[in-house]
Amino acid sequence: MAFLSMLLVSAQAVSPMQERADAFLNIVNDSYKALYYVASQAQWDAATDVTPEHDAATEAAGKAMAAFTGNPSLIKTAKELLEHKDELTPITVRELQRVLLNAAEGPMTNPKLVAERVTAEAKQASVMNSFVFKLDDKPITANEIDDLLDSSRDLKKRQAVWEASKQSGPALKPGLVKLQGLRNGVARELGHPDYFSLQVASYGMTTDEMVKLQDDFMRELKPLYLQLHTWVKYELAKKYGQPVPKRIPAHWLNNRWSQNWTGLVEAANLDDRFKDKTPESIVKTAESFYTGLGFPPLPATFWTKSDLYPVSATDKRKKNTHASCWHLDLENDIRSLMSVQSNERWFETAHHELGHAYYFISYTRPEVPPLLRIGANPAFHEGMGELISLAASQVPYLQSLGILPADYKADPVAFLLNDALASSVPFIFWSSGTMTHWEADVYAKNLTPDQWNARWWQYVRDFQGVEPPTERGEEFCDAATKTHINDTPAYYYSYAIANVLKFQLHDTIARKILKQDPRSCSYAGNKEVGAFLRGIMEKGGTEDWRKVLRDATGEDLSTRAMVEYFKPLMTWLEKQNKGRQIGWE
Ligand SMILES: [Zn+2]
Repeated sequence: MAFLSMLLVSAQAVSPMQERADAFLNIVNDSYKALYYVASQAQWDAATDVTPEHDAATEAAGKAMAAFTGNPSLIKTAKELLEHKDELTPITVRELQRVLLNAAEGPMTNPKLVAERVTAEAKQASVMNSFVFKLDDKPITANEIDDLLDSSRDLKKRQAVWEASKQSGPALKPGLVKLQGLRNGVARELGHPDYFSLQVASYGMTTDEMVKLQDDFMRELKPLYLQLHTWVKYELAKKYGQPVPKRIPAHWLNNRWSQNWTGLVEAANLDDRFKDKTPESIVKTAESFYTGLGFPPLPATFWTKSDLYPVSATDKRKKNTHASCWHLDLENDIRSLMSVQSNERWFETAHHELGHAYYFISYTRPEVPPLLRIGANPAFHEGMGELISLAASQVPYLQSLGILPADYKADPVAFLLNDALASSVPFIFWSSGTMTHWEADVYAKNLTPDQWNARWWQYVRDFQGVEPPTERGEEFCDAATKTHINDTPAYYYSYAIANVLKFQLHDTIARKILKQDPRSCSYAGNKEVGAFLRGIMEKGGTEDWRKVLRDATGEDLSTRAMVEYFKPLMTWLEKQNKGRQIGWE
C-alpha cells in the first residue's frame, strides 16, 4: 500500500514537459540500442575478418545509424525540450544533451556536407591503411620500422628508418586539409564554434578550458620531466657515443613520435616470467582479478564470441591487431578483440581490456538508459583500463599469482623509472603538449596548411624537448603520420586525462582502502576495492564527471597523486643529474 501511494505522488509530480520528454526518449533509446547493435556487429565482422564485403556492410550500417542519430526532427525535439530544462529531471537533461552531441557528428540538417565528410573520412582511412613505407626502395611494414627503432644502435640507420616512417605525411596532407574544413563545417551546423569545441563539449568544457587544463598538467609535471629528459639524453649520448645534445634528436628514441620512451630500463623487463603461461590462462587470470574484487564472471558469450588470440601470418583471415573491448548491444553481448601472447605486455593489456568489459557490465542496469551507457567522460573508460594495468604491474600482485617468487627483490627505482618513461610522463608532454596544441590550432584557430609542419615542430621542440634529425619543411606533414590525427581527431587530450586520473584513483585505493604503499600494493581479493570501482562505473554517464571524481577521491582532477607516486624517483634522478645541464632552454 505504502508503495502504491508513493507511486501516485510521484506520478502527480511529473510535469507535462517531463511526460513529453519520457515518451520521446523511450523511442530514441530503443531505436538507438537496436541500430547500435546492427552497426556494432557489422564493425565487429570487419575488424575480425578484414574483407571488402565486410567494409561495405560496415559503411551501410553506419549510414543507417547516422540517418537516425542526425535526424532533423530528433534534433528539433531535443532542442525544444532543452528549452524547458528546469521542468525536467537531471538525467533527462543529460540524455537530451547526449542526443544533440550524437547528432552533431552527422547532422542531417545538412546532408550534403555530412555525405562529403563521410566520403573524405573513408578516403583518408584508406590512404592511411594502404600506405606502403619504403626503406632503401624496399617496402617496410610499420612493425618492422618499430622493431628497427627498438633494436638498432646505428644512428645512420636509425635516421633512415625514422625518415621512412614520415613518408606517409605528404600523401595524407591533402585529405587532412579537406577534413579540416569539413569537420569544422559539420560542427558549426549545430552551433559549435569548430570541431575541437564539439569534441571537448563531451566534458562540458570549452577549447580554452581544455587547453588550460592540459597546460596545468604540464606545469605541475615539468620538474619531473626535466629530470627524466636530462637523465635520458645523457644515457643515449653514452649509448650512441655522441656529445650530449640540448634537445633529444627524435631518431635516438624508440618511438616514432617520442610519445613513450621505452627500452631504457632493462631491469624492469619481466617477459621471461610469462613465457610458460598460456594465452588462455592470461585472460582467465585477468577475469579472476575482477571476480576476486566481487564482480560477476564474464557473460558466457564473452568466451564464445570474443576473438582473443593471434591468427598466424599464413591464415587467410586477417584481423585488426589493436586490442579493444566492445559492448555490442549495450546489454550483455560483450566481446574483446585481442591477440594475446605470453608476455608482460599482453598480461597488462588483458587486465586493461577487461576493465572496459566490467565498466560495461556495471552500468548496464535499468537506472542507466542506453544513451548514457558510457563513461562519466570520454577519459573515464580509458582511465579505468589504465588503472587496472597499473594494478596488474604491482610486484605484490604478481607475487600473489606466483608469477614472481615470494622472496623476489624488486629494484624499486628501476620499476618507477620504467613506469615513468615508458607509459606516463613523456606521454603527457606529447599528448597535452604537441597533440592538443596542434589540433586546437588546426581546428579552433584555423591554422593555415602552409604553417602546419613548422607549428608541429615548434611544439615538439618546446613541449617535448625533442628535435628532428634535420630541418623538416612544409614539403612534409609529420603530424599526419600519427593515426589519431587522421581517424580520431581532436580527442588526444583524453589520453592525458586518463593517465592523470589513473594515478588519482590508484592513490585513493592504495592509501585509503588497502592502506598500502601505492608503489607496492595488491588489489587482489579485496571486496572494498571492488565496491569503490563499481560505485564509479555503475553511474555510466548519468552524473557530471567532476562530481563523480570528487565523490570518489575527495579532490578535483589533478596531477598531485602522479607527482607523489614518482617522488622517490625524483630524488634519485636529482642525484644522478647533479652537475648536469637540466632542460633545453
Ligand atoms: Zn582501452
